[in-house]
Amino acid sequence: MVTGDTLPAVARLLLIEDDLTIRAPLARALRERGHAVAAASTAMTGLRDALDDRPDLVVLDLGLPDLDGRELLRMLRAVSAVPVIVATARDDEREIVRVLDAGADDYVVKPFTAAQLDARIRAVLRRGPGGSAGEDPTVVIGGLRIDPRSRQVSLDGEPVELTPREFDLLRHLATRVGEVVTKRELLTEVWQIPYGGADKTVDVHLSWLRRKLGESAQSPRYLHTVRGVGVRLVSPEAAG
Ligand code: CA
Repeated sequence: MVTGDTLPAVARLLLIEDDLTIRAPLARALRERGHAVAAASTAMTGLRDALDDRPDLVVLDLGLPDLDGRELLRMLRAVSAVPVIVATARDDEREIVRVLDAGADDYVVKPFTAAQLDARIRAVLRRGPGGSAGEDPTVVIGGLRIDPRSRQVSLDGEPVELTPREFDLLRHLATRVGEVVTKRELLTEVWQIPYGGADKTVDVHLSWLRRKLGESAQSPRYLHTVRGVGVRLVSPEAAG
């Protein structure tokens, strides 16, 4: 029987934890509880895996060898709404407030049991990414619907198949509807290339995205290039 508490049987978790004596038994215990668990032992491999593999939820240790977990959280939040539970050895309120402000969905203080973490995971997943219960994060711009939870896009009711990068590009533009977003910003926020990256990368992905939205740079509907500056996403009605 299906109840309101029932989750999909398997959540895909990414565990970012450098301490093998914590990581291995925790991964095992979470698998026994029905989750699919991938693990990373450094911040940078964790960030890469979070972006490439798109887990349902990330469990993030704050004390990592290469980068502070809070810094990683900030980088992840710039490009992803994936729910994050922070595992912290720092049982001090200021630290906890800081990680929640930095975009963590919840936290556990070490030492914690797998049962406790599992309960928090289920609660966060029930809530959905990036908000309170029942809030629908879908963005609607004219006939374009962007659902960050399912990462699905439709145009005039028809599904649009996007690659993960195209989706992230569109979603980033959708956070700034009507504003010109520079290629520099897109490289930083979507590609995570700090500076000096090739504008060409953005141009190529924009042209793919345009094609999938059934438009071109010459006759734009949603994606308007501002020559020498960047691009803005607008509703065709608003574009005038
Ligand atoms: Ca650690």
